[in-house]
Amino acid sequence: MSKVKLTIDGLPVEIEEGATILRAADELDIYIPTLCYHPDQNVKANCRICVVEVVGMKLLVPACSYPATEGMAVLTHSQRVRTARRNILELILARHAQDCLHCDRSGFCELQKVSEEMHFLRTPRYPYVARSDYWDDSSPSIVRNSQKCVACGRCEYVCSNIQTVHALSKVGRGFEVNFEPAYGKKLGDSVCINCGQCIQACPTAALTIYDYTLRVWRAFADPQKTVVAQVAPAVRITLAEALGEAPGTISTGRLVTALKRVGFDVVFDTDFTADLTIMEEGTELLGRINNGGVLPMITSCSPGWIKFCETYYPDLIPNLSTCKSPQAMFGALIKTFYAKQIRKVPSDIFSVSIMPCTAKKFEAQRPEMGRNGYRDVDVVISVQEIARMIRSAGINFSNLPETPFDSPFGLGSGAGEIFGATGGVMEAALRTVYEIVTGKELDSLDFESVRGFEGIKEASVMVGDIKVKVAVAHGLGNARKLMDAIRAKEADYHFIEIMACPGGCIGGGGNPIKNWRKMGPRLEAVYREDKNMPLRKSHENPYVKKLYEDFLGEPNSHKCHELLHTRYVDRSYLLR
Ligand code: SF4
Ligand code: SF4
Ligand code: SF4
Repeated sequence: MSKVKLTIDGLPVEIEEGATILRAADELDIYIPTLCYHPDQNVKANCRICVVEVVGMKLLVPACSYPATEGMAVLTHSQRVRTARRNILELILARHAQDCLHCDRSGFCELQKVSEEMHFLRTPRYPYVARSDYWDDSSPSIVRNSQKCVACGRCEYVCSNIQTVHALSKVGRGFEVNFEPAYGKKLGDSVCINCGQCIQACPTAALTIYDYTLRVWRAFADPQKTVVAQVAPAVRITLAEALGEAPGTISTGRLVTALKRVGFDVVFDTDFTADLTIMEEGTELLGRINNGGVLPMITSCSPGWIKFCETYYPDLIPNLSTCKSPQAMFGALIKTFYAKQIRKVPSDIFSVSIMPCTAKKFEAQRPEMGRNGYRDVDVVISVQEIARMIRSAGINFSNLPETPFDSPFGLGSGAGEIFGATGGVMEAALRTVYEIVTGKELDSLDFESVRGFEGIKEASVMVGDIKVKVAVAHGLGNARKLMDAIRAKEADYHFIEIMACPGGCIGGGGNPIKNWRKMGPRLEAVYREDKNMPLRKSHENPYVKKLYEDFLGEPNSHKCHELLHTRYVDRSYLLR
């Protein structure tokens, strides 16, 4: 590719033809503020905060979309540029509630950063005009506060173009513009599948995670309650990052210590029920293959994906595995088996899931996830929320000693651990199904063909006499392609893994704010952790075996169906 030479703030730079000024400035480590620009999205160029001066041109140009050309001289902070940016910022702030002191995004807000970097000290010229009807907390996962919206359009892009859910659209014009569900619907009544990818894309607190931490603090203060935590596989990969450490830092032992110090009585590992899921789902798959059941069978551990299927593909509900997600299986076990073990009634246990996922908040509230008037999981909190709790308890996370998870649900395998990444459930299932069917040990446990960030991955594996064809999709735009192929009877897979979030759970909406630059280290950490585990196959987990012996009976037994499996509902009415 041919290159062009230009200068930015007097410094020479050479870059491939067609690259933007923003990219060229990045090469020189020159920072240009942006708001609507997002490295994972197409360029929109609608906020204009990134304007720069090209010497000899009358108009300022947006650096995010304007191409760098041969001989160009760019100025990124000339007087003209500074005046224009200040004006743009003043107009944004005229519609922005500036309550940083008690704002969820304070400290990692892009608008706050831009204001601070532009040294925006004087009183803005335009008075703040508050919006009416700006608050929507109808969803159990996401809070929308349009007082904080800068109309960048990043949420609409991710929801429509990447997730293909189309829950948010641009409503109104000019000063009245807003991004919300069409026809004045509330998010909780819309097609939103609670994935939280819009929160990850939003530069401000206009979209935030529904915070349940006050309920957890109250449970700690109640002497009647035993407060039990379960921790999802991806949390040990992203919590340290949320607390300021490098992406990909694994913090398993430290996080258990932190949770105990914050106030949890018992801390269990969701890797355990990920192993249990493999036993249940693997048995279900073999049953369907051997008995002419509905194929392809599709995984069911991503609740955002489940709601998407229920809404857009209700005709394919019979393809979904009936297994609950690992968090929901755990919820059922904690309030039944474990409650009995510690001689408590379910109402004396407060069960908290710590998850990378905002859709798990929705899942925990589904009527199917409880019995006899109580919820299996009382509260789901995200990585962002637990990081806030750890900080507010005055704990220095980086200096903590390591503590193991508690028994009897403290041991998970590497197979359970890789549930945190796209392809992980499939790989874990293949490890177990192969060995159970053939009775032989796998030469290598690493199924490289289902790893990585490619949108749709395919593989086939000889399991005994059967060539098992599998596919993996992450992000709902990719899932939609597979679902359309199944509907059109153009897909001959046996088993499909789908994760709602791009990258799988390590890219979940409840994690620290991500972009793909952070995803590589997170993915690498998942497989590093798997390699380090003494146990790497679900069916070899001795505590899972013991749970079957002591309580559940066989995989897919009546008891298993009662506690670990579920049913789904047709939600296509949401589209009307
Ligand atoms: S969204 Fe950002 S700028 Fe706005 S109040 Fe919150 S922290 Fe401050
Ligand atoms: S949570 Fe997901 S589906 Fe809902 S509005 Fe946000 S991106 Fe769209
Ligand atoms: S809600 Fe957030 S992402 Fe969406 S337009 Fe407003 S500021 Fe941008």
